[in-house]
Amino acid sequence: MKRRDFLKFVGMASSAAVLTSCGAEKGTEKIIPFLIPPEEEDYLPGEAMYRYSACTECPAGCGVEVKIVDFNPKKLEGTKGHPINDGALCLRGQASLMRLYHPQRLKSPLKRNPDGSLTPISWEEAYQLILDKMQEAQGQGRRNVWLSGMTGGSLSALIDEFSRKTGVERLPEYELYSQANLREAYKSVFGRDEIPAYTIEKADFLLTCGADIIETFMNPVESGVQLQKAREHNELKWVHLEPHASLTGFKADERKVIKPGSEAYVLAFLLNFILTSKVAKNDLPSSVEGRLPTVTEAEAAEKSGLSTEELTHLAEAFLAAANPLLIVGGVSTAQPNGAAVALFTALIQWTLGMTDSVVDFSRSRDYSRVGTLRDVQRLAGRLNNGEIGVMLIANTDPVGTAPASIGLKDALRQASFRVALTDFADTPTARTCDLLLPLAHSLESWGDVSPRKGVTTVLQPVIDRLYDSRSEGEFLLELMQKATGAAGGQSYEAYLRNRWSRAFGAANVDKVIQTGYHEAPASPGAVRLASGPVATALSRVKLDAGLSGNVLYALPSIRTYDGRSKAL
Ligand code: SF4
Repeated sequence: MKRRDFLKFVGMASSAAVLTSCGAEKGTEKIIPFLIPPEEEDYLPGEAMYRYSACTECPAGCGVEVKIVDFNPKKLEGTKGHPINDGALCLRGQASLMRLYHPQRLKSPLKRNPDGSLTPISWEEAYQLILDKMQEAQGQGRRNVWLSGMTGGSLSALIDEFSRKTGVERLPEYELYSQANLREAYKSVFGRDEIPAYTIEKADFLLTCGADIIETFMNPVESGVQLQKAREHNELKWVHLEPHASLTGFKADERKVIKPGSEAYVLAFLLNFILTSKVAKNDLPSSVEGRLPTVTEAEAAEKSGLSTEELTHLAEAFLAAANPLLIVGGVSTAQPNGAAVALFTALIQWTLGMTDSVVDFSRSRDYSRVGTLRDVQRLAGRLNNGEIGVMLIANTDPVGTAPASIGLKDALRQASFRVALTDFADTPTARTCDLLLPLAHSLESWGDVSPRKGVTTVLQPVIDRLYDSRSEGEFLLELMQKATGAAGGQSYEAYLRNRWSRAFGAANVDKVIQTGYHEAPASPGAVRLASGPVATALSRVKLDAGLSGNVLYALPSIRTYDGRSKAL
């Protein structure tokens, strides 16, 4: 008898013992995996197997190594060598296993009755109900719409196809932390609706202003990994400016407390300092330079609460660095002067030549599908005007996280039918919906995410479905097939494998699934200053006096992000 066969029998014997003590029904569930030999070549009872997937707790797209024992995922770690997180994972990523096993996960489709109670129905009934309601709404001249959180990769392409074939309108994606001012600035200054990769690893002086780079800003895990590498290789100096207390601030070499809302004055002073010191690597056209606000050292000091000596010392040290890097975000861009903060930052990055090195647009994150709170306001207006028919809301909780002043919760009641694809029935958005559809966990699903240009992280099911759920991709594909009379067409796995064959080469697909990610070579293109739009954007800048009195900051949480991870 081979060793692995012997161990299977040992496993079966121990399961049989469990069966005797726990009752036949439960025991049957446990014994089946050992009676039917598993296909996995590396399976041994009680020994760990490893598979690769992606974390979907936030849009950062970290690669995940899943430790599996007896076909149950037991532990998550970062995928070693992954271009984003290289072996590391944040606490939400590690806790995302709790979402898989959470006892309150939705287990089957539920239809809401007139008295508010919920009745389980089958997926077939759910699909038919949606199709009937969509047809009814079209007959009334209403638009059926699809709203999701931030997507990328194959799922985003499928949403486009779904929208094209069914006539369902794809709304701008909803993310509370949409980095609206930063994106607007990069659009004005470089003509790109993207956020570049900040290569902290190559910097020798890092100045962060408000951006909580090791908590929730962009990809905190990647920032942490890069900070460690930069400290090992470059003797990095890191100064953080903030008006509040943050973990990021306390991790920096130097934390400078500035007055709330004064960030734009400090950065305008720094930009003037660069230009008057004649150290700019890239020039600004006179049409741009002429529109910059003149903020003197004394004014910046008065507004920020820093001394003039501190400001001069900071500016001189920053300019003396061989590879300085400036990152702003978080509280510095989400305040009345936030647009100016982002604009001055993009101009500093340009003038000091960071766009040729540490501010990397060849590895940027595409935000062109992501909306802002203005889009949520627009949606509320359309709902209140009775324009929206069926509202399909996938894996996002705008009612729970968008400001209550927008009135989305009440506006949603004006849609003719509301559907939520969600893992919990008790979210504020799900509570307003007529039909709740159980969302599969990422560890139960095929999929991919594209956290950065050229990087694809692949998701594969590492456990059989615990409940009668669907991933976003499966739901879209099945609904599209039924709506277009192509029911029973290809599965989502087949759809993905076709796309991956085209993207990675057919011979490489299984290898990519095994390693968990694919990285294409970067194709750096020249970054150019869009003089006209910058001048227009600068002409709109009117520096607000700053915030006065006591200021309350409502901050993203390292523990729950925008609230989506609070169940973990
Ligand atoms: S930053 Fe954390 S929550 Fe976000 S994808 Fe990475 S591990 Fe997951």
